[in-house]
Amino acid sequence: MKTMINSEWIQRKLESGFHREDLRSILTSSDDEAELLYSAARKIRDEVFGKKAFIRAVVEFANSCRCSCLYCGMRLNNPDGIRFSLDHAELLEIAQKAFDNGIRTFFLQAAESESYGALWLRDVITDISRMGMGVLLCVGVHQESDLDLWREAGAYKFILKHETADRELFEKMKPGFTLEGRIEWLQTLRKHGYHIGSGPLLGLPGQTIDSLVDDLFLLRDLQSEMSSVSVFLPAEGTPLENEPTGDPELGLRFIAAMRLFLRNTLIPATSTFEKLLENGQYRCFQAGANVITVNMTPQKLRDDYTIYSDRFYVGLEHARNTIRKAGLLETTEGELLS
Ligand code: SF4
Repeated sequence: MKTMINSEWIQRKLESGFHREDLRSILTSSDDEAELLYSAARKIRDEVFGKKAFIRAVVEFANSCRCSCLYCGMRLNNPDGIRFSLDHAELLEIAQKAFDNGIRTFFLQAAESESYGALWLRDVITDISRMGMGVLLCVGVHQESDLDLWREAGAYKFILKHETADRELFEKMKPGFTLEGRIEWLQTLRKHGYHIGSGPLLGLPGQTIDSLVDDLFLLRDLQSEMSSVSVFLPAEGTPLENEPTGDPELGLRFIAAMRLFLRNTLIPATSTFEKLLENGQYRCFQAGANVITVNMTPQKLRDDYTIYSDRFYVGLEHARNTIRKAGLLETTEGELLS
């Protein structure tokens, strides 16, 4: 029999804990039930972090990749992709612009590539940290010895999406890699002193509600400081280019489930929601999110960072308006976590 979700049920579960079936019920809730879940998720967010959100800036600095993930336009096997790599001076200039606009978290993102060296990246991190910015990395799997180099230079958080907790689906989507290896690398990051961020890509062909529940348990087991969900959008020139997009309404329920189940974790309102839904990122905040990322990759290059085709680029004004509209106060990451 299907669970009826109402305020009493949510309160009871918040007190006694959510089980597998409860998380399943959240993900398959009706629209009316979802509104109650979003309201409860906002309440938990406000209790844990206050009625606040922060903006971080991302720059995608290299797009050559040695991997061939089926869903990604930058995969090694895509011969049509234009490859680029930003230099040290360009990155510092962008970071300074972010700093001058009041942003204090700088997010360096790149494909898994040998087009930049560990020492080069250390020097970039050092200079950006000296500006007074917290540096966050999302650069995939590298040598374990590089981790100390970057941590000592000032990088404090590392994002590595696990994409799916379904072992078979993971291996199909990321040929040559295993879910165990991914989890092990997340644990290695933790061992080297990083806060970690992870999460699934929702809507991958073959993904099930049960595997999304497994994603929630995996995030809990990892004690991830940042938990995010992106919605699958097919990228041109990939084996999945004709597959349907993921369901953003299910994505919003996943955000609420993360907030209610994990509570003390940062949750970004990712750009795929804005691409797929009117006021999509505002709705993420309404479902319990508290972070938004502004894209500062130079305009002439960012269309070549093809995680999916025809991306929505979040600008500073849009980010600030979205936070305001959600009734939240803009702050910095440092202040939010203090
Ligand atoms: S998802 Fe990341 S690791 Fe996979 S092909 Fe794209 S850039 Fe490379």
